[in-house]
Formats: sequence, structure tokens, C-alpha cells
Amino acid sequence: MSVPFAERTKRLGTETAFAVGAEAASLAATGVKVYPFHLGDLNIPTPEHIVEAANRAIREGKTGYCPTPGITPLREAMAEEIYRTRGFKIDADNVSIQTGGKPVIGKFIMTLMNPGDEVLYPNPGFPIYESMINFHEGVGKPYGFRETDKGFSLDLEAIERQISPRTKLIIYNNYHNPTSAESDMEEMEHLADICLKHNIYVLSDEAYFDILYDGTPKSITRFQGLPERTVILYTFSKKFAMTGWRLGAAIGPREVIEAISRFNVNDESCTNNFVQWAGVAALRGPLDDHRKMIDILRERRDTALSILNNTKGIHVATPDSTFYLFPNVTKAMEKLGMEEVEDFRKFVLEKTGVSFTTRNHFGTPLPGETQKYIRLAYSGIDTPEIIEGLGKMKELLG
Ligand code: PLP
Repeated sequence: MSVPFAERTKRLGTETAFAVGAEAASLAATGVKVYPFHLGDLNIPTPEHIVEAANRAIREGKTGYCPTPGITPLREAMAEEIYRTRGFKIDADNVSIQTGGKPVIGKFIMTLMNPGDEVLYPNPGFPIYESMINFHEGVGKPYGFRETDKGFSLDLEAIERQISPRTKLIIYNNYHNPTSAESDMEEMEHLADICLKHNIYVLSDEAYFDILYDGTPKSITRFQGLPERTVILYTFSKKFAMTGWRLGAAIGPREVIEAISRFNVNDESCTNNFVQWAGVAALRGPLDDHRKMIDILRERRDTALSILNNTKGIHVATPDSTFYLFPNVTKAMEKLGMEEVEDFRKFVLEKTGVSFTTRNHFGTPLPGETQKYIRLAYSGIDTPEIIEGLGKMKELLG
């Protein structure tokens, strides 16, 4: 008997990066040494004082249901964190605790987008944006990035060109996965002006806000009028090496946050109680382990960059944020006579065990795209393995 799937299930996308992980795992099972650059997970442990806070909370009996929008001490600590790092005053009512940053995407869309509304979103970009827009019958309007000698910048022209009376929302992921693009003040202000002028509501995905190697992080909410029209996606996953704990938050205007919390009641009732107490400990500090993690990641980044930029047919600028590199491999592929970046990925994986994703795992390439890119995550691989793996790739392409 065939399963009577609901129509909407056909519109639900996925994260194809996980499929690359499965492919790498089956290659490793045959005895081949695999160098995992495919998944944005960390092989760095959660700081001990956070682990201890969770254990203490369990021992103290924080094991029952808790309030749907989150425990008050965590919501208050989040409000303080936002004031400290983004500079605008909010209180606990502006915070809805979530099981990670990811749920904020779907809940933001369900709260603010009607079927047929147009939503601008980055492509390449985190694939869940497109999946959620399609699933909830919105009209996705992808915008891309331009390669510059410093990295990547937003294609603001593509954003402005696509705005119509039906454009309601934009998803903006500064400190961007997969390109590592970081807006300068001018670019961010330009985008803020566009949102104000066209009355567009913003999801500011700030998953990598704290994974910064230089300077201080900046949020689009720093511009006047933006806090009133922005929901911030906050996550503990990257800053505190807590990807598997599943802890994040939606932060924004009170009435939107209340509506988002109503999805919490209907879906998960509440985020895990004792994990939220660990979140309080994370926000209260100390931040020594976080700083050590940034130092480790910086060393990995620099190691990978120096090998990649000495590999024939590959170039990549030095990004100041995230733990991704998005090298241009167009020339390396030309030399191999390859047109499909997926063929390049498979070729390198088979010949060297170096496993990575490509531009195509982050959305369908846009018309007019000619350059080919791969994405390397260095969050889950130690420096000696980076040297060994990328060394093999360099030799292969040399
Ligand atoms: N947004 C971006 C751009 C990401 O890359 C990720 C995870 O990789 C997330 C959101 C969600 O992360 P999490 O659900 O672990 O908080």
C-alpha cells in the first residue's frame, strides 16, 4: 500500500550536507582515512562549568516541565547579553527560548509569512531557509554574493531588484554560512535602509555572531528602526560548543515573540529544563574556554588557508568570522576538464579522503553564476589532520 503523504511533505527540503557525512562515513568503514571538512560541528568539548551547571540542575530536580517561553533566569540573562553585545534594551518578554537556533527559522516564517508572500533569502545559504519558505507556501526570492579580494559581499542590487509589493520578509545571515561573508558598516546600513524603506521584516540569523577572529561583532539591530522589525536567531551551539545540547532563542518585538512561543506550546511544550540552567551558566561566564576555542579555530583557519592558497587552481580570501572557508576552485576544475562541482567533490573524496560540501549543498546555483566553490568546515578537524588532508589534495591537484 502506498503511503498517503500530505502534499506539503513534497515541499519540505533537507540539509544535503548530512548526506555527504553519510557518504564519508561509509568510505571510512571500508578502511579509507577520511578528513571531515563537511559538517559545521565542533570537535571541541562544552566548557566544564556549563556541563557542571547541567549536572547540578538535574540533581536539584530541574527535570520537569518549565515555562513555555523558557525559564525566567535564562530569558533575563539573554536580555542582558543582547544589551551588552547589540546595544539595545529589551527584557525577558522579548526572548523565547528554543531547542537550538534552527527552530527560529520555521517559527519566524510561520508567524509572519502568508502563502504567496515573498521572502528574500541568501543563496548560497543555509538550506533550511528555502525549505521552510517552500513548505509554508511562500515565494522565495534568492539573492547571492559577489566575490571580492577581501571575501564576499552581499549582492544588494539583486535584493533591491527583486523587491515588489508582495515582499514581506528578508533573511539576513551576517557572518555567513557558507561564504563567511561579513558586512561592513556601509553594506549593513544600506540593507537596513532598504528594509525601512520597503517595510520589510527581518530575520537576522546571528548563529556565528561570536565566532569572530578580529574586531567586534555587529548586528543589523544597531540601526534605528531595526529592533522594531527584527527577530534575532540566537544560538548557544557555536559560541559555547553546545551543538548537541539544542539551545537557542528567538529575540524580538514582544508581540512577535509571544506568537512564536505559541508554537512552543503546540510543538515541544518547553525547551529542556536543565539545559536552560546550563545556558544561564554559559551566559554568566567565564568566557575563557570560548576564547581558547577561538584561538584553536584561528590556527586551523590559517593552516588551511596557507595550504589552499598554495594549491594550483584554488584561491580563497582570509575570512574574519565563522569556521568555514569557501574557496574558488574554478581553475582547478577546468584543469581536470570538469564542469560539475559535484564531480570535483567526489573525485577529491575518492582520491584523498578529503570530504567537503560544495556550493550546490547551499541552494540551486543562480542564473549567471560561472565560478565554482567548495565549502570546507574546519570546526571538526584538528590542525595535524588539516595539514595531512589538504596536503594530499594539494598533491592531487598539483
Ligand atoms: N543558522 C546557520 C547559518 C547555521 O549554519 C546553523 C547551523 O549550522 C544554524 C542557523 C542552526 O544552528 P543550531 O540549530 O545548532 O543553533
